[in-house]
Amino acid sequence: MPIAIHWFRRDLRLTDNTALNAAVAAHEQVVPVYILSTWKGQHRWTGVPRQQFLVECLASLASGLKAAGSDLLIRQGDAVAELEALVRETGAAAIYANRDPDPFGRALETRLFQAAKRLGVELHLFKDAALHERNEVLTGSQTPFRVFTPFSRAWAKLGKPLPGNTVTRLRPPAKLRSLPLPTLATWGLQPDGTQILDAGEKAAHGRLERFVENAVFRYVEKRDLPALEGTSRLSQDLRFGLLSIRKIYSRLQERSQGLNETQARSLQVYITELCWREFYFQVLWHKPEVLELEYSEDYRGMPWKEDPAAFDRWCAGQTGFPIVDAGMRQLRQTGFMHNRVRMITAMFLTKDMHLDWRLGEQWFMQRLLDGEIASNNGGWQWSSGTGTDAAPYFRIQNPWTQGLRFDSAGNYIRHWVPELKAVPAQRLHQPPAPGLRLVPEYPLPMLDHAQERDTSLRTYKLHLSSSRSAKTV
Ligand SMILES: Cc1cc2nc3c(=O)[nH]c(=O)nc-3n(C[C@H](O)[C@H](O)[C@H](O)COP(=O)(O)OP(=O)(O)OC[C@H]3O[C@@H](n4cnc5c(N)ncnc54)[C@H](O)[C@@H]3O)c2cc1C
Repeated sequence: MPIAIHWFRRDLRLTDNTALNAAVAAHEQVVPVYILSTWKGQHRWTGVPRQQFLVECLASLASGLKAAGSDLLIRQGDAVAELEALVRETGAAAIYANRDPDPFGRALETRLFQAAKRLGVELHLFKDAALHERNEVLTGSQTPFRVFTPFSRAWAKLGKPLPGNTVTRLRPPAKLRSLPLPTLATWGLQPDGTQILDAGEKAAHGRLERFVENAVFRYVEKRDLPALEGTSRLSQDLRFGLLSIRKIYSRLQERSQGLNETQARSLQVYITELCWREFYFQVLWHKPEVLELEYSEDYRGMPWKEDPAAFDRWCAGQTGFPIVDAGMRQLRQTGFMHNRVRMITAMFLTKDMHLDWRLGEQWFMQRLLDGEIASNNGGWQWSSGTGTDAAPYFRIQNPWTQGLRFDSAGNYIRHWVPELKAVPAQRLHQPPAPGLRLVPEYPLPMLDHAQERDTSLRTYKLHLSSSRSAKTV
């Protein structure tokens, strides 16, 4: 068949791209297109850092396609309408794309399926973002897992797909209308000084190789210490599909030969983290309502407080809790926050400040380079005690002792909260004497953790018993 369209979505790469490889294998000519969304100014689920990263990924993809003899076509509008128009312009016989695990992507796929039928063209959608998706990992009674550990055991037993080819040559497309590559102004946004990682497929491969070379073997030892570079920093690469999950998995398999016990365990723990990502994908697939509601029905309708001024202090990293403020400022300045600190800041918002987890979920999505609807929702619901396999409501992390445990020398705190750079570590991890600031320019703690912990315990307990008794009536 002569012409096909490849619709790039969250798969911005030429290496081991399932749908693109299938299109190239079956068609003489493949028209690669990316379709920009039309919102302007503010978006609930994204913001400047991730859009800037997208802009740079698209520029890199366009130059990769140019080197392969082709051009990336840029269109803007409703993706289904744009693809329909492109089918008419090119006379394409088929559309190829990789599936998106989130509910917005799925809704588009349903509409595209109907449009393809109307147009009489083939639509080929592929699994690409995950090793296992949808219904591939089920309990013995064919229901979705609610708890991570048994899910991960079942996931580990399944055979894993291998990486495919790299596209190096594409036939040049006929001259087609294309918009220029986007900039932040495309969405009415301005640069805000966020210092983001290098984007594009090549940069992502560099990060993977640096990690699998050595750091993966010390992952267990270092991954919880935010002052160190102990994690892979691949989350945005997985989010935008700069790397395929099959490539990562197969590199880890290659590195798994001849390891000592510690190294083998470290590598295994890292693979388990990749499995968390797929666990949350399948939660969202089976229960898309978690985007609005608590996964656990018992916690729906909790009496969250409303306090916009307090929320602003949390976002700005001005709570007076050094470990919380360090995390929030890392997020603001780089579009990234270490996993351990994501848990601390999320629990602080929900269990110390008693604010709705959905506020934090949205702020993270607007700031994170790796903002992934499924993982972010899963992380927030886990931290607030409302999700799958969640920390039970009575497990409330103490931000002072968390700081001491995971940043004992205070290096992470001092890096992100520079006004505290001369404060000795031990004072960073305990409440200051009443009314006495650590330094004049740093705020007093905005609340008393012990008091707010008690309030949380009472509120959660009361809500839980009233929703359980409502069920039995
Ligand atoms: C409140 C909260 C919000 C989060 N939001 C996101 C998000 O929007 N996007 C996102 O990718 N991750 C999210 N996470 C999970 C985790 O914090 C990040 O994946 C991790 O910090 C990314 O850094 P890394 O690539 O160096 O991780 P590594 O430790 O090197 O882990 C390797 C990969 O495993 C996956 N992973 C690791 N931990 C988790 C996890 N708990 N849940 C799901 N996947 C995981 C990621 O793809 C990550 O790149 C969130 C966690 C919490 C507690």
